[in-house]
This record gives sequence, C-alpha cells and structure tokens, in this order.
Amino acid sequence: MRKTLADLPLAQIHYYNEIGSTNSLGLKMSSEGAPEYTLLVAESQTAGRGRFARRWLTKPGASLAFSLVIHPNRKEIQKLALFSPLGALAVCAAVIDQCGIEAEIKWPNDVLLDGRKTAGILAEAAWDQNELKGLVLGIGVNLLHASVPPENEILFPATCMQAHCSQPIRAESFLKSIIANLIHLRSLLQNDKFISHYQNWLAYIGEAVSLSKTGSETVTGTLLGVNNQGELRLKLPGGNIMEFAAGDLSLRLRN
Ligand code: ATP
Repeated sequence: MRKTLADLPLAQIHYYNEIGSTNSLGLKMSSEGAPEYTLLVAESQTAGRGRFARRWLTKPGASLAFSLVIHPNRKEIQKLALFSPLGALAVCAAVIDQCGIEAEIKWPNDVLLDGRKTAGILAEAAWDQNELKGLVLGIGVNLLHASVPPENEILFPATCMQAHCSQPIRAESFLKSIIANLIHLRSLLQNDKFISHYQNWLAYIGEAVSLSKTGSETVTGTLLGVNNQGELRLKLPGGNIMEFAAGDLSLRLRN
C-alpha cells in the first residue's frame, strides 16, 4: 500500500488490521498534533461511526475504511461545512477514474450508485477551546459484495462498487484515487467550481423529497440543489424556497 500511495503528499500512513474507528483515533491523534494528511487505514472497524452516532459497518477484506487528518487554513475554516461534501465529491471522482461510471450524492454526503448507498462520509473536528486542532475526514466505501450489510441492519438500501463496475476493484488504487481527487477538489473550495461540481453530482434534483429530523417533523418539497454554503434548497408546496443546513437532517425521495 505504501508503494501505491507513494506519490501522494501524505505525512504519515498508519495501517490497522482491526480498530474501533479510524475517525476516533484520528481525532485523538489530531489533538496530539498529528500533521496534515496523516492517513489512518483499517482492514476492519469494530465501532465504525456515521452521523449522529449511527453505525457504519465494514467487512474485513471487502470494505475500504480510512480517515485523513486535515488542517484547514483560515479561509477554509469559514467553509468547514463543505469538508464532508468534499469527501463525497472525491469518492464520486474516484468512481469515474476507477470504473468510468457516474455516482450521485444524496445530500449532504452519501454516495449512491444506482440509488443505493455505497459510501458514507463523516467529518469531525478536534477542538481545544476555540482552537481547531484538526479536521478528520472519515470515508467508508463498500467495495466487494460481502461489504453490503443485510437490509435489516441499515436504514437505506445499500450496494457496492463491484455490483456496478466491470473492472476488478483494487482497494489500494481506489484509495489513492480518492485521496488524489480530494486534494485537487480541496483546492477549489474557495471557488464557485466546487459548488457546481457538488450540484452536478447531487441526486434527486427536480424530484419530490422529504427532509426529516430524527424523531421529529418532516418537510417536503422539490429539491432544487445547494446554495454556495452547501445548504439544501427546497421549493415548498406553496412555492416558497427554503434552505437547510445539514445538521441532523435526513433526506429521502418521496414515494
Ligand atoms: P441517512 O441516509 O439516514 O441520512 P446518514 O447520512 O446520516 O443516513 P451515515 O451517517 O452516513 O448516514 O451512515 C450511517 C447509516 O448508514 C447507518 O444508520 C446505516 O443505515 C447505514 N450503513 C451503515 N453501514 C453501511 C454500509 N456499509 N453500507 C451502506 N449503508 C450503511
């Protein structure tokens, strides 16, 4: 793996056969001063996490699970909310590079293939009082069939790269492509191009969707896209347009 990743500007590469969560360790390492582009890769996670402490399931030998430590600069700190979409955009770009197929992003950051979730992203910040000690971008991708969890363990249909890609899936080159794309797309964060890439890969544009808070009310409307902060724009049934920050909202296609 080190050989495959050698061209990338990674400060450190840590590989684990089994770990609780690469993000949890990445946060700890960030607090202790881990440099920019410290990479943590795991063969298996026993406590992989998604948003709101939900579980992210990985299967040894079939999933890709890694976290990257990033030190956002002063300008990027104004755009922290765009770092988890950045992870999703990097996965979409890698899917094109590796398989030649188009993925989509279920706002804010789930990567879908044929409408099913194939990658999840978790961006978490390590703070010391008001000082940002690092941002940890965790990315989990279902590569091979065995990585797709049983339906009763997940809240949204899932799939994997192998189900949609005619070429063999090589975890290391896919990892390399995600990181290389991430570094390139990060350089566009201050630029309108970043949001237009996000908009282009967004799923459900023009379709009727619902947005719900865990255990709370649901808003329905037509999905218009994202604004320049990455907030979701919905046209409500009365015609008003509302914008929503990601927070703890879940997006679904209305049936
Ligand atoms: P939602 O789609 O409900 O908005 P989310 O974006 O908050 O969810 P994440 O935090 O990215 O989801 O991931 C956690 C959720 O993903 C879990 O609740 C589970 O339903 C689902 N999940 C867990 N592991 C996998 C996996 N390997 N493949 C696909 N889905 C998974």
